[in-house]
Amino acid sequence: MKRTYRDDWRVIIEIRPTATHTPLRALGFEGLDGRVVGAPFELEIAPQRLGDFGSVSMSDSLASRDVDGDYRRRCEELLAELLKRPHVAAGRVTCTETSVCTHCDLRWEELTADEAADGSTNQDEHSVEGEPVCCYPAITEFRIERGIPQLAEGGAA
Ligand SMILES: [Zn+2]
Repeated sequence: MKRTYRDDWRVIIEIRPTATHTPLRALGFEGLDGRVVGAPFELEIAPQRLGDFGSVSMSDSLASRDVDGDYRRRCEELLAELLKRPHVAAGRVTCTETSVCTHCDLRWEELTADEAADGSTNQDEHSVEGEPVCCYPAITEFRIERGIPQLAEGGAA
């Protein structure tokens, strides 16, 4: 079975420098008169860790029963705050998704339609798009769910 882990949550905002009225002193240039110019650029902001309570720190899974959901909410709240600023043009919440097989722990990969139709890459003539490629238990499970005939050999591995 495929299991997806989410990690590395980030809020990405696009800054429009020409829309900012930020004085140069905000960038550390004291006593100079001017403004920020240039093309829009992005800032990537990491949310505070769920288990980080300042003086006390614990693992995210101890601090939350819904780590993914809490990170998403935390990032969306931060994004909503940031979007209120005039020089923030746009923004989004993103994370890294990693899918692994629950049987063999390898990275989850599936046959494409072309690979499923190709005798050199498929398992047999019953292979279809989306069939896992990592191990026989995953293929067996996939085929049972869809009522596809099992592999002639190796299915019991
Ligand atoms: Zn597997």
